Amino acid sequence: MQVYLTALGCRLNEAELQTWAAELSQYEIAITTAIDKADFIILNTCAVTSEAARKSRQTIRKLHRQNPAARLVVTGCYVSLEQDEVADILGVDLIVSNQHKSQLPELMKAAYNWPSMPKQAEEPDSTPLFNRNRERAFIKIQDGCRYRCTYCIVTIARGEETSRSIEDILNEIRQLQSAGVKEIVLTGVHVGGYGADIDTCLYDLVVAILQQTDIPRIRFASVEPWDLPDNFFELFANKRLMPHMHLPIQSGSDAILRSMSRRCKSTEFMRLVDRARDQIADFNITSDIIAGFPGESENDLQMSLNIIEKAQFGHTHIFTYSRREGTKAARLPNQIDEQIKKQRSKQLHEKALAVKKVSLENMVGKNVEILFEGKPDRIDENRYRSYGYTENYHKAYLEMENAIDLSNQIISCKVTSADLNIMLLSVEPMEDWSDKNARLMVNQLD
Ligand code: SF4
Repeated sequence: MQVYLTALGCRLNEAELQTWAAELSQYEIAITTAIDKADFIILNTCAVTSEAARKSRQTIRKLHRQNPAARLVVTGCYVSLEQDEVADILGVDLIVSNQHKSQLPELMKAAYNWPSMPKQAEEPDSTPLFNRNRERAFIKIQDGCRYRCTYCIVTIARGEETSRSIEDILNEIRQLQSAGVKEIVLTGVHVGGYGADIDTCLYDLVVAILQQTDIPRIRFASVEPWDLPDNFFELFANKRLMPHMHLPIQSGSDAILRSMSRRCKSTEFMRLVDRARDQIADFNITSDIIAGFPGESENDLQMSLNIIEKAQFGHTHIFTYSRREGTKAARLPNQIDEQIKKQRSKQLHEKALAVKKVSLENMVGKNVEILFEGKPDRIDENRYRSYGYTENYHKAYLEMENAIDLSNQIISCKVTSADLNIMLLSVEPMEDWSDKNARLMVNQLD
């Protein structure tokens, strides 16, 4: 029997597919990437915005049309928020809310009478790797959030915080590494709150990963800029911990942060940024800013523009505020006119781009370790490019005359220039490596 897994939305949804794939394979259920061959289809939905919820509905219908014979299992945030609506959609066979999604394989076993004894329980490292990217894997470390930011529906959809045990996480990392993965990304809803429910914390988890695995590169997905201990950035003295963090500030104005019920003031945020840069000078901080939150004045906008400059964000995602039914912010007075929102979003984008250009130019001349991903692209008759990320998460390319497959190799390089047309770094290898370890000529490209 074969299962086709797909997800919308965040990296957490992606990481959950990987965990289920590993568990399902122990029930003699093979993973397929061909939907027409699937006996079961699993969709992990998203509902962070009304648009995301609409896309989830659309995807359910599309998957059923693509393979009406397959059993369609739907889970994720859209299910947790609109269970009845999902139940009414044609083709949906089994619905699993976020509350029960960690037992999804067992629930399918019960619903579809699969054989009881898992086949491969005794051979942990034989688990096939379900990973859309063989270089990097997302690891779910916790779920849920204790906070109630007024614009956020995720905290409602995903419920209270639950953390996986450190041992469970270490086992998954070892399995992934034995399958060839070089980089892991620790992900969750409130990553900074990891361990609060099991008497441990994010700091201890990172120490355990550094001491009890030898995975070469460790990253964090988005981390709320609070609940981090004062000595947190000392961890980055270990070169296996990549010096980049995505810390969503959402606004530079303390008045707006208050009406968002965010747990971090702009001064506290800047203190975090300074601590990170005291530890590693070119520590890359990226962030999110919401444009046009209810009640936002021109002065509040100016404070958001200022903090992008002050924090020197390597990249800033600008989101135009959209009302999300079911959140407190949707009921706030002084909702901003759509045209004004658009205008402010444009201003923030321009500022973010100007600041990003500076952070890329500051990388020129630096020595970096790039983990190359995927096959090289052919640029023209005589040039190919391989892409990858620096330790501090700037995307870079290496140009070559031959189509050499560098995927999943970590190579020491020097940044030769910042290509501001495509906002990437151009690098060259520190040493001549073409003879030693290159896999020559990917035929299908010639
Ligand atoms: S901390 Fe994050 S997940 Fe939690 S309520 Fe706020 S925005 Fe949502």
